[in-house]
Amino acid sequence: MCSRSRGGIGWRVSGPLRDPTTTCSGARDQGHPNVVISPSWSPYAEGVNPSISAPAQTPATRDGNVDQSAPTPALHAIKVVKRDGRRVDFDDTKVYEALVKAAVEIRREMTPLVHRAIVDIVAAVNREIAGRFNTDIKIYEVQNIVEHALLESHEYDLAEKYIGYRTQRDFARSKSTDINHSIINLLSRDSTVVNENANKDSDVFNTQRDLTAGAVGKAIGHKMLPPHVSNAHQKGDIHFHDLDYSPYAPMTNCCLIDFAGMLSRGFRIGNADVEPPRSIQTATAQISQIIANVASSQYGGCSANRTDELLAPYARANFAKHLADAQRWIGDETQHRAYAEEKTRKDIYDAMQSLEYEINTLFTSNGQTPFVSLGFGLGTDWFEREIQRAILQIRIDGLGSERRTAIFPKLIFTLKRDLNLAEGDPNYDIKQLALECSTKRMYPDVLSYDKLIEITGSFKVPMGCRSFLQGWTDADGNDVSEGRMNLGVVTVNLPRIALEAAGDQAKFWSLLEERLLITRDALVYRIERCKQATPANAPILYVYGAFGQQLARTDSVDTLFKDGRSTVSLGYIGLYEVAAAFFGGAWEGNAEAKLFTLDILKALDAHTKAWSREYGYQFSVYSTPSESLTDRFSRLDKVKFGSVENITDKDYYTNSFHYDVRKNPTPFEKLDFEKDYPVFSSGGFIHYCEYPVLQQNPKALEAVWDYAYDRVGYLGTNTPIDRCYKCDFSGDFTPTDRGFQCPDCGNNDPASCDVVKRTCGYLGNPQARPMVHGRHQEIVSRVKHMAGATGSSGSL
Ligand SMILES: [Zn+2]
Repeated sequence: MCSRSRGGIGWRVSGPLRDPTTTCSGARDQGHPNVVISPSWSPYAEGVNPSISAPAQTPATRDGNVDQSAPTPALHAIKVVKRDGRRVDFDDTKVYEALVKAAVEIRREMTPLVHRAIVDIVAAVNREIAGRFNTDIKIYEVQNIVEHALLESHEYDLAEKYIGYRTQRDFARSKSTDINHSIINLLSRDSTVVNENANKDSDVFNTQRDLTAGAVGKAIGHKMLPPHVSNAHQKGDIHFHDLDYSPYAPMTNCCLIDFAGMLSRGFRIGNADVEPPRSIQTATAQISQIIANVASSQYGGCSANRTDELLAPYARANFAKHLADAQRWIGDETQHRAYAEEKTRKDIYDAMQSLEYEINTLFTSNGQTPFVSLGFGLGTDWFEREIQRAILQIRIDGLGSERRTAIFPKLIFTLKRDLNLAEGDPNYDIKQLALECSTKRMYPDVLSYDKLIEITGSFKVPMGCRSFLQGWTDADGNDVSEGRMNLGVVTVNLPRIALEAAGDQAKFWSLLEERLLITRDALVYRIERCKQATPANAPILYVYGAFGQQLARTDSVDTLFKDGRSTVSLGYIGLYEVAAAFFGGAWEGNAEAKLFTLDILKALDAHTKAWSREYGYQFSVYSTPSESLTDRFSRLDKVKFGSVENITDKDYYTNSFHYDVRKNPTPFEKLDFEKDYPVFSSGGFIHYCEYPVLQQNPKALEAVWDYAYDRVGYLGTNTPIDRCYKCDFSGDFTPTDRGFQCPDCGNNDPASCDVVKRTCGYLGNPQARPMVHGRHQEIVSRVKHMAGATGSSGSL
């Protein structure tokens, strides 16, 4: 057994923190066993955050009379073969920790006598292993020896507890690959299954079919994955995203659809050849058809880049037709242009409104409204400006007679210096409209043109809610964004590593290294699996041009992935919790703590760059949205480590590099704090600030946008826009156990209220479609970053 010195903090026992069945993993510590423990130590009384609870304790050093527990030299040569086939050094600390955990659970107190008994049992286990094994020992053999040692020492209750853990772990392991179990979970409407994606209405038939297919796909996916990747996912060390689709199907994740190429060339959907459109109404109708098909052929979001510039040529065709009509029917020549402009403006508005309704009424084969984002704002001519205006005005007007807030498409407006940022700029008026829209509907989120290029190497809207392609030029030297895609995400559970390290930074780094190797293998597997698709699997993507080229049905899809054209992402979560584990919960002002969190992202960034060179694909660091992962990781870690203050006690993990949502820095302080992180996570990021009601005060929001321009690349607005149609309240609904209700009349019926919260980079309607517990807790914990009213009666 081993301890590392941690600057005077003399204890090291993880107590109930360990999963006892992972008996031997990790690198062997150097040196002699030297466990120290407090006689009265109880993890239940103190919490287990070492940086907080440890100094309050007065650990007693273990007496010197137990050297028999030291690993004999022979043990050093022994490797443990884990269930997933990995061979790791034998480490008797794991046996010790498992037994301490079991003992604490039974007796609730760790006395010197109990401790002594455990040390003796570990010594017996070591002797037995050293006597019977020379090189490899299988993990279950270690566990059998521990069980026998316990029985021989008449530690029956301890044995029972230890065997219980083992059995539970074995059950959990087989259940996740058992299709029957997955389906039973689904039929019993397990909330972690049916509410995993807040955009899916799990009451309707085709969502239920999708969830069933997903449960089966997940179980099969686990059998396909490399065993150590599947195992790490099941334990919660990493998260292999979208297992319900991939790797079962060789699907890609998200993309920027090459609309310009498809519309100008014409394309084919199903049995129909589609001609290039000759009006903006036809163009937007085709766009919604393309979106429906693309969204059914991949599992993540899709985006339209520079929508105003994309559609302007088609609006110009409308104008030409109206001008010709005017010349034919109107005698007064001075009226011609005004007539054509007015008719075209109306066409643009109708076309953009149809697009918004189409997207909101579309239902993909995935059983959900497609995740769509529209980027716009850089165009300067009359048509482009009119399209920008229409997009914003339609969103402000709302959906239907109740004027509900549209959740899709996500709108992303681009701010650009000398274009729309400052008074006097040609598109400053459109920025004002965007501000009004954000105060009333939360969208548009804003991109800062110059900063985005600085961080990601080129300008483009994110794929889906926040995934950014990196700057890339084709063989002819053209900067290309449209038609590119992401191949998938695997997220590493950083807070768990911090909890396992128990205050020891060196241990944190070595565990991180170990987890990143597994994550790399998982990502390489994603790439290899995506390459197994054929163009015939998804004609809309590969044959008809959504991915920017028209491949023959037998071509290799890898043409579109390799040499940095696609990205594949290493995700992360919970930098706040990581630093809280080492520096306490209020570390934001601590320069050393901040540097530590930046060093973590730098390490991730350096690894992805090295992998990109090694494999020829663009690995990027991604600030995972973790809409439901925030719940899963913290739930698993709470089981493993107990309720740890500021870490697992909240039931959610903080998104990526975000400021602790329970604190209330000003928006300016928050942005200054967060701005250093996206540089090392350029594969995906978003900042947001929490505001009070802003509808009377758009200038306050403008001040933040302006401040953000030179600091962050991508900023969202969270402001109270919930509406009660019973009593006409507007503002922040009051959180309840599972949802939200009107603070004035208590109404919580989704039919007569409209509750809009930011669930990740997207908005969601939590009242209509409940979220997982952890996400609900996170939203409830959010504190405003500005003073002001959070509700008012009255209309928009
Ligand atoms: Zn009400």
